[in-house]
Amino acid sequence: MRFLITGGAGFIGSAVCRRIASDPSNFVLNVDKLTYAGNLASLKAIDNLPNYAFAQADICDGQTIGSLLRQHDIDVIMHLAAESHVDRSIDGPGAFIETNIIGTFQMLNAARGYYESLTGEKRERFRFHHISTDEVFGDLPFDSGIFTEETPYAPSSPYSASKASSDHLVRAWHETYGLPVVLSNCSNNYGPFHFPEKLIPLVILNALDERELPVYGKGENVRDWLFVDDHAAALHLVATKGVAGESYNIGGNAERRNIDVVRGICAILDRKRPRKNGASYADLINMVTDRPGHDRRYAIDASKIKRELGWSPAQTFDSGLEATVNWYLANDWWWGPIREAQGYERLGTLKLAG
Ligand code: NAD
Repeated sequence: MRFLITGGAGFIGSAVCRRIASDPSNFVLNVDKLTYAGNLASLKAIDNLPNYAFAQADICDGQTIGSLLRQHDIDVIMHLAAESHVDRSIDGPGAFIETNIIGTFQMLNAARGYYESLTGEKRERFRFHHISTDEVFGDLPFDSGIFTEETPYAPSSPYSASKASSDHLVRAWHETYGLPVVLSNCSNNYGPFHFPEKLIPLVILNALDERELPVYGKGENVRDWLFVDDHAAALHLVATKGVAGESYNIGGNAERRNIDVVRGICAILDRKRPRKNGASYADLINMVTDRPGHDRRYAIDASKIKRELGWSPAQTFDSGLEATVNWYLANDWWWGPIREAQGYERLGTLKLAG
């Protein structure tokens, strides 16, 4: 199959590109604007393969997307490109409206024009897969509730509101124009190649730098954690086997309080890279004032994708976290230049939130 993957230079998109391009019978066109979050170094393992190509383009440029679809004879679009960092959406929501809402609208228009030109098997096979987040469902109490595919939307942050808007547009293009779409909403991803301002890599790298670990509120906010390669496998299934018009929740069945994630990382580092002063990295933890609109808990019911598409995660949270810490310890060639470019001072003062 021939895939156009938007946001393929990002954290999840690069895992999807690496997975799909590793099968030589697939073709992957990675379309990415290369914002601060895009990094072609994450594609090093596949960028010489004959079945992989990269195009630097903005998803808001519908004409270019339309030409790329025709030029590369695409069967499946996997749309991951987005502004994805909640704290950045609070400081500057404009880019989130532009990329996540207008960009998705432009992608849908380009896909619709292309789809209408297809015939026969090619038309049957075509899918527009929109990748979204469990944050569109809003806030759950600490002690009850779980998000299913039927949970009503109630986003809290500019990021989740922009993703919710894009989900609605995707459904509307299915209902109104018959575009064969599939959607997936997933929980917090973690794993290799994660941008160093997100919770897990930030804790690992700030701890190694002997910097404070400032955790929001009491660190009691709960997230469900999904290993990125397990997510990539699920997305591949949804894009190729998902039923048009359906949405699938994807989660790691691994609910953890933020403070326990941070302590878990500190415990692994204590074993693998003991501090010179003999103390635990956990001594670097410092609680700071909570962020506005900070949802308490997200929890995902992933039984539909398990039942209907046969997916299940290969990693537990403990094995995935250990693999992630090991990867960061071994791959400073990847994260070193990003920390340099972002400024250690800025990264050193970011607050930790899942
Ligand atoms: P990311 O921030 O790591 O990567 C986003 C990529 O999109 C980057 O490579 C960036 O250059 C590209 N991009 C941004 N604006 C663009 C534009 N206008 N045109 C073309 N490319 C553009 O994000 P991620 O964590 O890999 O998330 C990917 C998708 O998964 C997003 O849609 C996000 O909402 C969703 N998601 C992520 C998580 C998570 O835990 N990371 C959880 C749920 C859902």
